[in-house]
Amino acid sequence: MSRFANRRLQTLTPYVPGEQPRDRRYIKLNTNESPYPPTAAVAKAAAEAAAGLQLYCDPECTALTAKLAEVLGVAPTQVLCGNGSDESLNFAFMAFCDASTPAVFADITYGFYSVFAELHGVGADIVPLREDFSLSVDDYIGKKGTIFIANPNAPTGLALPRSEIERLLVSDPTRLVVIDEAYVDFGGESCIPLIDRYENLLVVGTFSKSRSLAGGRLGFAVGNEALIADLRTIKYSTNPYNINSLTAAAGLATLGEEEVSRARCREIMATRAWTTEQLQALGFTVLPSSTNFLFAKAPRIGGGELYLALKEKGILVRHFNKERISDFVRITIGTREQMERFLFAVKEIVS
Ligand SMILES: *Cc1c(COP(=O)(O)O)cnc(C)c1O
Repeated sequence: MSRFANRRLQTLTPYVPGEQPRDRRYIKLNTNESPYPPTAAVAKAAAEAAAGLQLYCDPECTALTAKLAEVLGVAPTQVLCGNGSDESLNFAFMAFCDASTPAVFADITYGFYSVFAELHGVGADIVPLREDFSLSVDDYIGKKGTIFIANPNAPTGLALPRSEIERLLVSDPTRLVVIDEAYVDFGGESCIPLIDRYENLLVVGTFSKSRSLAGGRLGFAVGNEALIADLRTIKYSTNPYNINSLTAAAGLATLGEEEVSRARCREIMATRAWTTEQLQALGFTVLPSSTNFLFAKAPRIGGGELYLALKEKGILVRHFNKERISDFVRITIGTREQMERFLFAVKEIVS
């Protein structure tokens, strides 16, 4: 740390992304990316956009925003694109939390929430998940602050029905609820259809998981016009050109092929069901997943041990050395062939 670091930086613990090693080729099941590359049409759109890189990109992302709004069934004024949903979440922390409006979130959830809370010096009111890792809306009903819920949750993979989120929204219309739907396309129920009914609802989504665009960095926030206008003020106060032209073109082309993305999600969900059965047959505990990953506990060996043994065999999964979940690993669902190789390695390790 330099001698110039300010007080907040001196105590800040940054987010730790899943490893992206370059030393050898791994089967990457550690960061919940799609195993399927962007289609030829998406790659072509990005390549064509490259010809105009001498110009600044459109700060309004006009074409992309219009198409995204159409796909989501909302008005363009109800959507704001972000540089990954990480940026959309960051904007939400900046806009809707402060010292007297803490962020309220689960003890086991997306790691960035606590980082953003620290970064922006807002309080964090941490609500433990239940013993079985389920999230009970009842634990949030009386809470003051801005609630952040990943639904489906990560790394547990568990989902809440929309009706439960609605119960939370109704319980206090003066309190904002942010629903992070990074994994909703793998079997969750989106809250986007509720945005016209509840002005205290903001939904955040991403192209990283279900739309094969993690490296493009494209996310979005959806909510009523006033909430989106607030986020827009933050965007124009930090980074007006937050979506580069290549990503805007790739995102627009991706939305032109929604059926491809949906078919890929169905494929992943089928592979997820098959992998779950196989792991259970080997004695694993596997939480029921509504995402593109499994959260699983091996018989006899710990999560850290399994992670290392798999890495040795060229397979990366994610292990969180954290209270309550250190016995588990998070396994991204890849292609059927990748999962066959994963299971082959797992069998060697646990038997
Ligand atoms: C992956 C993930 C995100 C962030 O994704 P981006 O790549 O920044 O869009 C946000 N929330 C959760 C719960 C995630 O797992």
